[in-house]
Amino acid sequence: MEINQNARTVLERRYLIRNSQGQTMETVEQLFERVANAIAQPDEKFHPDADPTKTAKEFLEVLTSLDFLPNSPTLMNAGRPLGQLSACFVLPVDDSMEDIFESIKNAALIHKSGGGTGFSFSRLRPKGSTVNTTGGVASGPVSFMRVFNMATEAVKQGGTRRGANMGILRVDHPDILEFIDCKKVNTEITNFNISVGITEAFMEAVERGEEYPLIDPSTNRVTGTLNAREVFDKIVDSAWRNGEPGIIFLDRLNRDNVVPSQGEIESTNPCGEQPLLPYEACNLGSINLTRMVKETVDGRFEMDWDHLGRTVATAVHFLDNVIEANRYPLAIIDQVTRSTRKIGLGVMGWADALLMLGLPYGSPESIQLAHEVMEFINQKGHEASERLAEERGAFPLFEESTLKDGSPLRNATITTIAPTGTLSIIAGCSSGVEPVFAYVFIRNIMDGTEMIEVNPILKRELTRRGLYSDDLMRRIAKEGTIAHMDDIPEDIRRVFLSAHDISPEAHIRMQAAFQDHTDNAVSKTVNFPHDATREDVAQVYRLAYRLGCKGVTIYRDGSRDSQVLNIGKVS
Ligand code: UDP
Repeated sequence: MEINQNARTVLERRYLIRNSQGQTMETVEQLFERVANAIAQPDEKFHPDADPTKTAKEFLEVLTSLDFLPNSPTLMNAGRPLGQLSACFVLPVDDSMEDIFESIKNAALIHKSGGGTGFSFSRLRPKGSTVNTTGGVASGPVSFMRVFNMATEAVKQGGTRRGANMGILRVDHPDILEFIDCKKVNTEITNFNISVGITEAFMEAVERGEEYPLIDPSTNRVTGTLNAREVFDKIVDSAWRNGEPGIIFLDRLNRDNVVPSQGEIESTNPCGEQPLLPYEACNLGSINLTRMVKETVDGRFEMDWDHLGRTVATAVHFLDNVIEANRYPLAIIDQVTRSTRKIGLGVMGWADALLMLGLPYGSPESIQLAHEVMEFINQKGHEASERLAEERGAFPLFEESTLKDGSPLRNATITTIAPTGTLSIIAGCSSGVEPVFAYVFIRNIMDGTEMIEVNPILKRELTRRGLYSDDLMRRIAKEGTIAHMDDIPEDIRRVFLSAHDISPEAHIRMQAAFQDHTDNAVSKTVNFPHDATREDVAQVYRLAYRLGCKGVTIYRDGSRDSQVLNIGKVS
C-alpha cells in the first residue's frame, strides 16, 4: 500500500489499536482489513446467500487504493468493542436544568467515542428571565455554553480525539448580541464553533433596513426589537475581527429537511456540513478525486467517470453498512438515526485534481466542472441508494418524507462535503473542496535537520521541466504563493494558485457549485486577505445567501492570535 510518511505518522499516533502498555497492535494494512471486514459483515442480514468476504475485498480495495475513506471514527472504531462509527451528531438542548445537563452528559459520551456534537441553544429562555421553581433569574444560553465547553475540555484528556462542538443561536433570540460577542475573548468557549441561525425574514429586514422582533422561546412573546442592519453589521464585524460567528441559513436548511414531520432542523454538526434533527447521527465518507483523474495516451489528464461511478456505488454500500455496524452511544440516537439512515458521501482532493487537469481553482471552467462532478456523484449515489432500497427496503420514514413520490431510497440524504482534516492527510491530497493553502512546508526536525514537504503535483510538474530545487522550495515556503515568482513559467503560475490568490467571490461560487448538487451541506472557509474590509465580508454573505449556500464561514488572514496555518512562516 502506498501512503506517505505523514499519513503513516497520523495513523500510527492516533488510529492503530494499542495494548495497555501503549504498544501498537496492528499495522496500517491491518487497520484497513479490520475496517473492511467489520463493515462488510452486515451484508449477511439482508441476503441469506451474501458473501461478506467478497464485499470485504471490494471495500479493502477502495480503502487501500485511497480512492475512498470513511470518517475518522469508522477508521478508529470499526471492528472494535467501542464500535462508534459516526463523526456527526446533533443533540437537543431544552429549557430545563434536567434537559441541559442531560445534553452535557450525552455530549461527553459522544466526544469520548470520537464524534462531534452540534446544539441549538435557541430554546433556552433569555438571560434575566424568571425561573419558576426557584423565583431566581435565568442565566441564558451563553452562560450554559460555558458549562458545555468545560465538560468538553475535561473529556478531551481521555477521549479518542478532541471533542468539537457547534453552538447555534437564532438571530431572533433576545440574547443574540451577547452570543455574537461570546468568543471575543479567545480563551473562552474554545471548544465551540459558533454560528448565528439566520432567517429569511431577517435577511429581508436587513435589505430594507427595518427593525425585527426578538422572541422569548419559553413564552413565544416578543420582548423587543433590533435594527436588522445593525445586527448584520455586528455579525460581519465580529467575523471580520476573528472569523466568528459563522452564519447558517435556517430556512434554506429546512427546505432540504426531507422529514419535516419529525421537526425542524435547528443545528448542524461542528464544521457545518451536516444539518441534522435532534438525536440524529450521520456517518461521512469522502472520495479522493485525485484518484478519479486519469492520464491519457498523449500525457494529458481527464476525469475517469467510469472509475468515479464505480467508487460512488461501493462507497454508498459501505456507508449504508456503517449504519448497521454502528454502536450508537444512546438508544434514542440509534432509533432516530435508523429511521432516516442519512449518509454523507463527499469528496476530497478537489484542488489537487484541478491542478492535474490544468484548471485554475475558481476559473469559470473549474466551477463548471465542480457542477459536473458533484452532479454525477449525487446522481450515481442516489441510484446506488435506490438499488439498496430494492434489496434492503427504503428508510423507515420514507412514506412520510418529501421524497415519497419518487423511487424508494435506502437513505434520506446521500451527499455531504466534509472538511476531511485528517482523511486528506491520510490520502495525501488537498482537503475537501478547499484550494491549496500552501504548496511548500518546511518543518524543522528536532535534530536540526529540515524536512521540505512539497505538494506532489507541483513537485511533479517542476521536476518534469527540470525546475525543481530545494532553494526554490524554500523561497516558495517563504512567499506563500508562486503567483508573483517570475522565474516560474507563467502557465504554471496561472494554475497553481493558493487560497489567497483566489478571490473571496470565487471561493463562494465554488461552494455554491458543490452545494447545488449536495443533499446536506458543504464545509468551506472563505479566505480573505488581511486588508479586506468589512464590506468585502458583507458582500460575500449576501452572495452566499443569493446563491443558495446553507452557511458561510470566513477567515481573514492574521485576524487571530494563533492560526493553524500560516503562510510565509516556516514552522
Ligand atoms: N470532528 C470532531 N473532532 C475533530 C474533527 C472532526 O468531532 O477533531 C467531527 C466534526 O463533526 C466534523 C466531522 O468530524 O464536522 C468531519 O470532520 P473531518 O472531515 O475533518 O474529519 P476526518 O474524518 O477527516 O477526521
